[in-house]
Amino acid sequence: MSAVVSLGSNRGDRLAHLRAGLSILARRFEVTATSPVYETAPVGVGDQPPYLNCVAVLDSDDPEAVLAAAQDAEQSRGRLRSRRWGPRTLDVDVVSVDALIVDDPRLTLPHPRAHERAFVLVPWLDVDPEAVVPGRGPVRSLVRAVGTQGLRRWET
Ligand code: ATP
Ligand code: CA
Ligand code: CA
Repeated sequence: MSAVVSLGSNRGDRLAHLRAGLSILARRFEVTATSPVYETAPVGVGDQPPYLNCVAVLDSDDPEAVLAAAQDAEQSRGRLRSRRWGPRTLDVDVVSVDALIVDDPRLTLPHPRAHERAFVLVPWLDVDPEAVVPGRGPVRSLVRAVGTQGLRRWET
């Protein structure tokens, strides 16, 4: 029974946003692992600052509860955004919940782009070498496929 979430920030005090997000999640769930933080080049829209990213593993089997907590964490950091994939204080995505596969645009599981994102896969592999993206395969293999370019460990 575990849920994986991905946190990202590329505006303001990025590390503070990640930590605040983690502490909000920790109020509702047992956090069983928190990955190292990586600095990553932005994906999608190029002309924006680099992100800090990490992942956390939560003890939950309730996708709705995890999404609600993720959205509350974003709100608490005053998330405002003018365009999709543009700069944001805090983005919290639900990467997977157990082996669930859900095809709903409001909450798609696993996250529809997680398997191609090094900034999700690499920190996830750090905390769980046996992790699998449901329907996509082992994170270890996916990391090999996408590579680790544009990613570097952020010393905290
Ligand atoms: P991306 O989805 O490519 O990471 P984004 O995180 O910038 O982009 P948002 O604007 O934060 O996208 O989210 C858009 C919508 O995605 C949200 O309103 C949410 O309902 C929906 N959504 C669907 N599946 C998920 C998921 N697994 N985790 C988080 N949000 C999801
Ligand atoms: Ca996202
Ligand atoms: Ca999101």
